[in-house]
Amino acid sequence: MNTVAAEFDVDLFVIGAGSGGVRAARFAAGFGARVAVAESRYLGGTCVNVGCVPKKLLVHASHTHEDLAHASGFGWTVEGAQFDWPTLIVNKNREIHRLNEIYRKLLLGSGVTLHEGHAKILDAHTVEINDQRISAANILISTGGWPHKPDIPGAEHAITSNEAFFLPQLPRRVIVVGGGYIAVEFAGIFRGLGAETTQLHRGDLFLRGFDQSVREHLRDEMQRKGIDLQFNADITRIDQQADGSLAATLKDGRVLNTDCVFYATGRSPMLDNLGLENAAVTFNDKGYIKVDEGFRTEVPSIYALGDVIGRVQLTPVALAEGMALARRLFRPEEYRPLNYKLIPTAVFSQPNIGTVGLTEEDARKAGHKLKIYESRFRPLKLTLTDDMQKTLMKLVVDAETDQVLGCHMVGDEAGEILQGIAIALKAGATKRVFDETIGIHPTAAEEFVTMR
Ligand code: FAD
Ligand code: NDP
Repeated sequence: MNTVAAEFDVDLFVIGAGSGGVRAARFAAGFGARVAVAESRYLGGTCVNVGCVPKKLLVHASHTHEDLAHASGFGWTVEGAQFDWPTLIVNKNREIHRLNEIYRKLLLGSGVTLHEGHAKILDAHTVEINDQRISAANILISTGGWPHKPDIPGAEHAITSNEAFFLPQLPRRVIVVGGGYIAVEFAGIFRGLGAETTQLHRGDLFLRGFDQSVREHLRDEMQRKGIDLQFNADITRIDQQADGSLAATLKDGRVLNTDCVFYATGRSPMLDNLGLENAAVTFNDKGYIKVDEGFRTEVPSIYALGDVIGRVQLTPVALAEGMALARRLFRPEEYRPLNYKLIPTAVFSQPNIGTVGLTEEDARKAGHKLKIYESRFRPLKLTLTDDMQKTLMKLVVDAETDQVLGCHMVGDEAGEILQGIAIALKAGATKRVFDETIGIHPTAAEEFVTMR
């Protein structure tokens, strides 16, 4: 350990008990550091409270509608199936509360001091919280992000993911604006639960940066499920009607009537009243806190990681950054810079996307000569139903070295399947290794080792 400095109250003061902050705090405490954490809103941060976890629960709830529809093909009669949004939200809230308490126990159990309140930086070594001043050898900013809504007239009538998790009732009609992870995930959630769902995206096709085949396949599947997808479309103003419904005026002059406008147009770093004016922390051109490879800001005693640095806004990345920082500060002999290559990710759209490595487009741009393997098929489970959903699997292979550069899937359980494939790509697997691997039958995943 390099910093146990008696003149400071703690060795590390962490601002924000989300994915990255909690992981950094627990690891640092485990290495023997004296650690304090401040949390102003909810233990576990975005992921636990208004992100990954409640979102996935809502996806499960929404997908149940398809499971029920498929049941008759397997001989089941399901009568009187009804959905009740308030029940789902109450149950979801109970589970989140349970997780909040687990986070509290984990922090306290690892010897971390927890301060519940808003923390503000006073100088390079001092934080103010609940009228108390605490000095720290190192300060970590892990304050996450916050949804960003475009500044249009009537934007105050629109909600974001933060509010969607607590709506008192499921809206009958919803317009989702955006073409990123959150927009496609929530369009699927609302549609599956029975809302008339329109998704507007300002570009030609959503999910910029994903493989083109994946984007097109998901577009077709979402349309087949009854989502009204409108591209090159955007809202210019929102007006509330006398009956409480909303009128959304589009840039082409059309007016759409709806009960809810949901903005999923990206997230900004959470820096509110953080006191950064009291320290010479700098920002990159997108407004995120600028850090070096090891998460140090321009102020040598202040570090930042997770969504607030805007590198890759995913929970497992924030966790890995938190562990790396704890090592850098308190176990430098074990510290290795984080490798951001080959990060797998899933979009919990319906059907899911799972992806790791290069898209076909990026691989071509990087100068690789490619062999592309693509397979589309109707999963076995659906053959006894009238659901025509197709699964897409795609391998992007370097034609010269045979190395698998990218692996992409749209289909049920794509996230579950791609986690294992990511290990193969990390190990540098060639297509030949994929071919020599025996499949597991009958699964969808076996297609990845049988594509020729
Ligand atoms: P956060 O988890 O946001 O934690 C920051 C914490 O800091 C918050 O608890 C906040 O209250 C606190 N804080 C802020 N300012 C202060 C202050 N001044 N004083 C004290 N406390 C403060 N990622 C995935 O990998 N998989 C998913 O399926 C997924 N789904 C998502 C769904 C949604 C709807 C959203 C919004 C995000 C999703 N993410 C997902 C992204 C993931 O949630 C984030 O990448 C992750 O939570 C970032 O962790 P963090 O530690 O940087 O910040
Ligand atoms: P994203 O950055 O992924 O997507 C934002 C979308 O909104 C883009 O399609 C963008 O269009 C569009 N957009 C941006 N500004 C405007 C505007 N002013 N008007 C109209 N459209 C606009 O953000 P999200 O909010 O979806 O999610 C934030 C991050 O959270 C994700 O990037 C991801 O890292 C993480 N996340 C991860 C999940 C997972 O792992 N499953 C789930 C949910 C979130 P354009 O493409 O043209 O820029």
